[in-house]
Amino acid sequence: MKFNKKLESIKTYEAGKPIELVVREFGIDPKDIIKLASNENPYGCSPKVIKSVSKIVANMALYPDDSMTKLKNGLQSRFEVEENNIIIGSGSDQVIEFIMHAKANANSKILMNSVTFAMYEIYAKHIGAVVIRTTSQKHDLNEFYELYKTEKPDIIFLCTPNNPTGDAIDRDEMMAFIQKINKDTLVVIDGAYMEYTIYKNKAKSVTPKELIKKYDNVIYLGTFSKAYGLGGMRVGYGIADSKIIKELYKLRPPFNITTLSLEAASIALEDEEFVNNCISLNFDEMKRYEEYAKKKKIDIIESYTNFVTLCLNETQNSTNLANHLLKRGMIIRDLSGYGMNAIRVTVGTPEQNSRFFELTSELL
Ligand SMILES: *Cc1c(COP(=O)(O)O)cnc(C)c1O
Repeated sequence: MKFNKKLESIKTYEAGKPIELVVREFGIDPKDIIKLASNENPYGCSPKVIKSVSKIVANMALYPDDSMTKLKNGLQSRFEVEENNIIIGSGSDQVIEFIMHAKANANSKILMNSVTFAMYEIYAKHIGAVVIRTTSQKHDLNEFYELYKTEKPDIIFLCTPNNPTGDAIDRDEMMAFIQKINKDTLVVIDGAYMEYTIYKNKAKSVTPKELIKKYDNVIYLGTFSKAYGLGGMRVGYGIADSKIIKELYKLRPPFNITTLSLEAASIALEDEEFVNNCISLNFDEMKRYEEYAKKKKIDIIESYTNFVTLCLNETQNSTNLANHLLKRGMIIRDLSGYGMNAIRVTVGTPEQNSRFFELTSELL
């Protein structure tokens, strides 16, 4: 059977290996497996979320509230924006998909960082658009600007902090960059880890409010999958000028978020204290990774997220290390597919991190 030609060049996205797969492949007891591969919150979500979702769990027969008013109201007060500035997606992934279809076509160019979130390229290829990448591993906004001028992309993706490297763009530099971009080019600011950045360094953080107040060609993306501990619920959002949101809405399938997910995200937003505690623990534990890297003479990229990227030296091999850990029941991310001899590790609980150091030291 012949399929859409556009799919030929797409490499299927490999999500962090699920625990179930390691159980099957290596016969390890699920309770002995530690997953530090997808940047989920190791402390889970707020207990208030579990309580309130349990209460409505029997409501499965009816479709969810497609106006999503409760969650939108929560986002409105959190971010001080209007309801018509918000779209909710099944993960921010789905919002990226809407953006691609709304703004680009097969003649479009999409500009992004050399190393960045893999889904930008996959969605670009769905519509047959051409992907343009910088050469610099860090977001170099001068290089972005040069490529913008010569390539005239329809969409520019800035992932800050960036996945899988954890570094973040300076806010003032980013604002100055957006200022120079033509109003018909859409700039996407993917802030999947922004809650961590706000905690660590305000100068590297940006709010959707300040972005959309100044620019009507920018969309900010956020998610409940990382700091809020709701990866299994699939809720993300986009915040932009109402004219952009109106177009994205044309692509949204009805009921794209489940009843339980809507409730979980709404309640999670209310428990700011829980999230802040998790973030504080995250940076305490991250110090241990920095010390470990120093001791082992491995480069660690300064991270504004809940993961660390360890760049190995020439005598070490990231794939070997990842496989070694996998056989011992620990899932992390090998970045060799990104052209880096590096691994990405989600900062886990104190016990999980101790186990990482122990297992890694067997090899390094
Ligand atoms: C995790 C992640 C997302 C998407 O998360 P969803 O679970 O789809 O909301 C988007 N961008 C980056 C950079 C991420 O790391």
